[in-house]
Amino acid sequence: MTETLHHFIAGKIVEGRSGRFGDVFNPATGEVARRVAFADAGEIDAAVAAAAAAFPAWSATPALTRARILFRFRELLERDADEFAALITAEHGKVLSDARGEITRGVEVVEFACGIPQLLKGEMSEQIGRGIDNWSVRQPLGVCAGITPFNFPAMVPMWMFPVALACGNCFILKPSERDPSAGLKLAQLLKEAGLPDGVFNVVNGDKAAVDAILHHPGIAAVSFVGSTAIAEYIYTTGAAAGKRVQALGGAKNHMVVMPDADLDQATDALMGAAYGAAGERCMAVSVAVAVGKVADKLIDRLTPRIRALKIGPGTDPEAEMGPLVTRQHLEKVRSYVDQGVKEGAKLVVDGRGLKLQGYEKGFFLGGCLFDEVTPEMTIYKEEIFGPVLSVVRAPDYDYATKIINEHAYGNGTAIFTRDGDAARDFASRIQIGMVGINVPIPVPMAFHSFGGWKRSLFGDHFMYGPEGVRFFTRMKTIMSRWPTGIRAGAEYVMPTMK
Ligand code: NAD
Repeated sequence: MTETLHHFIAGKIVEGRSGRFGDVFNPATGEVARRVAFADAGEIDAAVAAAAAAFPAWSATPALTRARILFRFRELLERDADEFAALITAEHGKVLSDARGEITRGVEVVEFACGIPQLLKGEMSEQIGRGIDNWSVRQPLGVCAGITPFNFPAMVPMWMFPVALACGNCFILKPSERDPSAGLKLAQLLKEAGLPDGVFNVVNGDKAAVDAILHHPGIAAVSFVGSTAIAEYIYTTGAAAGKRVQALGGAKNHMVVMPDADLDQATDALMGAAYGAAGERCMAVSVAVAVGKVADKLIDRLTPRIRALKIGPGTDPEAEMGPLVTRQHLEKVRSYVDQGVKEGAKLVVDGRGLKLQGYEKGFFLGGCLFDEVTPEMTIYKEEIFGPVLSVVRAPDYDYATKIINEHAYGNGTAIFTRDGDAARDFASRIQIGMVGINVPIPVPMAFHSFGGWKRSLFGDHFMYGPEGVRFFTRMKTIMSRWPTGIRAGAEYVMPTMK
């Protein structure tokens, strides 16, 4: 019997009633490992009702008490980290050490959210008029929803809900239907940490569940991470329904390698950033921009390393790269490689023929490397989201920055150089949300905030960190005067302070 995953509403597992299910694969073997229930509008309604019922008490709970539950949650995440990582690897395919790393980056956001009493402190102006004080506070929004992608099934939800809950909101998570177990595990750990029932709910599903969230009048805000087409849809639909929305989309991250860069360091950086997690990271480097005469040397260094990549099931401690998430995604990435060849890019390393003994039905693709890629090519313009690195040869630094600034996506970028002037100019002028200087994947720490520019983010706020607190709260300003203060009598003009 295949196990079926259901929903988590009001503190308990609730069986799916819609009669619709999706398959969840083991990407290393290609087998269906379990199936997941797909929620309908009625089930979203039940989750909103549970969250709305929990909101008055939760939002009135002192921030310090809310933080203490998050402290306990943090300890439970550490306790179960290995088991949790295994769950991620089983459905996503990434290697165990990478899955463990994703949990650590999620834990960091929980640690940030534990400081919520400090983060929610408002501003106060005493005596703005005689006997009058004015202050501002930030209050929770109500019921918030998170819709998350497959590639970080634990970390991306943790970009959202620790801050949302700490601010006093209730939350409904709609995880990716491709690896839904992590969302349910998070719900169980939050319950064990003492979170009251209904404050955090998980509703599994596909577009039907997402649409029900976007149109539900009881949901105040939607946080989304996923591909750009869907992010744009979530933003426009959610905003038209009167919700606050932040929707993070896809990416095409360039790493500029300057002629003065340490090439060994740049090669190491490209290997990890392009092929780690099989390229299924929104901060993966998918374009290396080789400036001046650096391209040949870079390709000479990269080629043997890509051919020697240790590819295997995520559970193999020796493996550096696991399979892609589904057969459908594998076919999509492979078709981009075909397209690149057709468009005239030079395929230096071709991973399409990879066969792994014992895992013939797994969704594996070997690392691929393209040289002589130009900005007109589809493989340059579109996000591939697989282990495919494109090298663009740039005559100079100005060309390198021009193509990055003109690209539709604006998530992350990096420059490798020893030249402080070039690095400073790059950080200042590049039209990208997150920038690395000799750092290939500049994912900001939890106490900063994460987000892209251009078609990598729809909305006004980055995620987690101080921006997360702003997104999950709204401001209220209060002006007060005690009756014993100065009595001015009735005033018929616009009040001004004397
Ligand atoms: P996706 O857009 O297919 O799915 C994301 C979520 O949207 C899932 O929960 C899914 O159920 C839902 N969804 C899918 N199709 C929908 C539709 N037609 N209508 C409504 N909802 C729909 O993304 P994915 O394949 O799971 O994840 C990979 C993508 O996410 C990549 O593009 C990657 O760059 C992006 N990503 C971005 C960031 C970031 O921070 N910018 C982080 C991680 C992943």
